[in-house]
Amino acid sequence: MLLSKPSYTEHDLDRVIVSKEQIHSCVTRLGKQLSEYYAGNEITVISILSGALVFTADLIRACEIPTRLDSLRAESYGSSVTPQSQPRITSPLKTDVEGRNVLVVDDILDSGATLRSICKHLEQASPASIKTCVLLDKPSRHPSSLQADFKGFTIPDEFVVGYGLDFAERYRHLPCIGVLKKEFQNLEHHA
Ligand code: IMP
Ligand code: MG
Repeated sequence: MLLSKPSYTEHDLDRVIVSKEQIHSCVTRLGKQLSEYYAGNEITVISILSGALVFTADLIRACEIPTRLDSLRAESYGSSVTPQSQPRITSPLKTDVEGRNVLVVDDILDSGATLRSICKHLEQASPASIKTCVLLDKPSRHPSSLQADFKGFTIPDEFVVGYGLDFAERYRHLPCIGVLKKEFQNLEHHA
């Protein structure tokens, strides 16, 4: 069968669901909200790699409060569009979060398994508080009892890439977020 080649540009998207401009104003709004909520305090941002890397970089610069930055890596997807296992935390924290106000930053709240296991892991280190912030939320994929404390956009249950979100480590560099064409949601294209 003849496969059409991915271009790793916006041309591989079926459609854009969040534009670069919408992301920018959303991150500005979240930065303001966080600065008001934590006014007068420092926060320790824990960025969930690699998906939250791009979002975190913009978010900490939109905050007017002092931030410490650390990261955790949680893996459940492998090179696939569906989770392969319960998330495993595969890299340790570098900083001490005991007595700190911790803000966990992730790209997307999907099933919620990642945020749940990360928060459980962090609780063992006795932080003063733990809050969560996600850029995207797919509410149809998780129980309504599970919510992020700060969130950007609500999106439908479709596989999206761009602005840090990947398929097989590709597309993280796109400035917008969009639905990857079905024909490219296939590992054979991305060797
Ligand atoms: P959860 O544990 O099911 O909530 O999944 C969270 C992780 O899965 C996120 O941090 C993302 O890295 C990844 N993920 C979930 N949905 C998507 C998607 O539509 N595109 C790309 N990655 C996704
Ligand atoms: Mg991912």
